[in-house]
Amino acid sequence: SFHKSKGQHILKNPLLVDSIVQKAGIKSTDVILEIGPGTGNLTKKLLEAGKEVIAVELDSRMVLELQRRFQGTPYFNRLKVIQGDVLKTELPRFDICVANIPYEISSPLTFKLLFHPTSFRCAVIMYQREFAMRLVAQPGDNLYCRLSVNTQLYARVSHLLKVGKNNFRPPPKVDSSVVRIEPRKPQPQVNKKEWDGFLRVCFIRKNKTLGSIFRQKSVLLMLEKNFKTLQAVRASLNGSTGEAAGMDLDDQSMGMEDDDNEMDDDDDVEMDEGQGEEFKEKVMNVLKEGGFEEKRSSKLSQQEFLYLLSLFNKSGIHFS
Ligand code: SAM
Repeated sequence: SFHKSKGQHILKNPLLVDSIVQKAGIKSTDVILEIGPGTGNLTKKLLEAGKEVIAVELDSRMVLELQRRFQGTPYFNRLKVIQGDVLKTELPRFDICVANIPYEISSPLTFKLLFHPTSFRCAVIMYQREFAMRLVAQPGDNLYCRLSVNTQLYARVSHLLKVGKNNFRPPPKVDSSVVRIEPRKPQPQVNKKEWDGFLRVCFIRKNKTLGSIFRQKSVLLMLEKNFKTLQAVRASLNGSTGEAAGMDLDDQSMGMEDDDNEMDDDDDVEMDEGQGEEFKEKVMNVLKEGGFEEKRSSKLSQQEFLYLLSLFNKSGIHFS
């Protein structure tokens, strides 16, 4: 019996499994990371194609079934199974990741891979169709969103294969797609938190103009708070021996997940009207300088986002 909660949809179409393995471009010297091997249909083909498979599986019954399946075969000593939640597991070094994952972990797993400390060639992953289309969406596409921009900063992403629900047992509710994710080398030199915070603001409403988003009180309050904290830190560093230079500013939470003006209730924030206006002008000037005031995030390219962030940072405006 399969666990719905663990997203256990087993690939039953051997031709499809072959096609995934073939498109992954595995070399015979590759160490392959598989996530959620289940009963091992994909695992077997991966073992045939590569040098070693390291499989991370949450369900202990699946781990047993997997070991039973390969015990006494020539594959057994080239398979290493790690039992556990992949999101909580420290990943080993690998060349390529191939996985049919439970769709609940799509987003955190993708970023776990993208931020994996040792470099790998690519990841070939089965996603829910809509998630896959969001990953690969380009400016102006309907599904273009924060996930598209964020992922494509760190990786080249391409759609490999459409997969209907009936290739699985039991069939999931939605169609799927296999996507190839190839980390950019070298990785972009951005501050991850800064970039993420910036995109969260830009995509509060992707079809609103940036001018109207950055005029929102909650946004301005958050940015001004960051601005002042940074100024205060700079001032105190100037007066000290510089011992605190590595000081961590990460504690300031963004609190920008939705449209609410949550920041209005924040006791820490006290500004008199005049100051607020001045800061707003500063922000608007940045938008005007880059010609972004009337632009909408739904149509902006990654280069344009990077450029706008650099303009903000140059003016001392930060998002984390
Ligand atoms: N790879 C197999 C196949 O294609 O037939 C099974 C794929 S099934 C969609 C997902 C597998 O991931 C299940 O075996 C499930 O137990 C496992 N799983 C679910 N959550 C997990 C997690 N957080 N970490 C590791 N494995 C997980």
